[in-house]
Amino acid sequence: MKIIEKKADLKIEINKLRNFSKTIGFVPTMGALHEGHISLITSSKNDNDITIASIFVNPTQFNDKKDYQRYPRILNDDVKKLEEAKCDILFIPTEEEMYPEEDNRQFDFGNIDKVMEGKFRPGHFRGVALIVSKLFEIVTPDRAYFGEKDFQQVAIIKHLTKLMCYPVEIVSCPIIRESDGLAMSSRNMLLNKEEREHVPLISKTLFKARNIAQKMNVEETKNWVIQTINADPFLKAEYFEIVNDTSLESINNWSQKGEKVGCIAVHVGNIRLIDNVRFYL
Ligand code: AMP
Repeated sequence: MKIIEKKADLKIEINKLRNFSKTIGFVPTMGALHEGHISLITSSKNDNDITIASIFVNPTQFNDKKDYQRYPRILNDDVKKLEEAKCDILFIPTEEEMYPEEDNRQFDFGNIDKVMEGKFRPGHFRGVALIVSKLFEIVTPDRAYFGEKDFQQVAIIKHLTKLMCYPVEIVSCPIIRESDGLAMSSRNMLLNKEEREHVPLISKTLFKARNIAQKMNVEETKNWVIQTINADPFLKAEYFEIVNDTSLESINNWSQKGEKVGCIAVHVGNIRLIDNVRFYL
């Protein structure tokens, strides 16, 4: 695997690949890689000639400074995992390289950055859009891979891609979970032993909610999820919303058209975790 730190060097590499008509799949990450990330690499390898991953802990998408500071950074482990997964190129730019000057761009995402993560993490999706647009312009991938774990982020990226006319196919990949159901996340490694024992309740509650939904209306189902999570002294739900998977508007009746996704954010001590599940009603 080639490890590249400079945009200019990556561009030279990409131009060479393009001369040989190679297709490029791209997997942007913030590192502290786990099987969720590797599943994206695997999908990219299946679909493209060359797979490029990036690791960059993007400061502009952190609305909480402490969250940015304590975000895990374990580059040596990450490199090993990417080599095992046979990733072709790893791009690890510095902050100076990605933000040589202040980037004041604003994006209009309509409703989709006003709700859930957008509401509780102000500025988060603008930061995501800033970095993804820069990376897309450098890497010029044919396909880019994102996890459904960050369901709202996928919607934002699809919107951004249309808005900016990027000729890239956005591929969303299923959530990879631990054997106890916990959605894999780089932040899981920040949980202490006791917290780790309590967090499987998040996905367990989401899965149970799908059955409960057969007997309860939307409001009752939402209340049941929040109450079940908050009954655990280690967990505090920030929100639980059931939304249309395209518009991200809240559902208030099961008979509403479209696919429905239940999205949750939960605080566990200092750590904030998100998860989601599809409702088939
Ligand atoms: P991150 O490093 O957290 O920015 O994540 C990089 C990419 O990996 C994003 O597209 C995430 O949605 C995806 N990802 C993170 N966790 C998982 C997971 N458990 N399953 C599938 N994809 C994931």
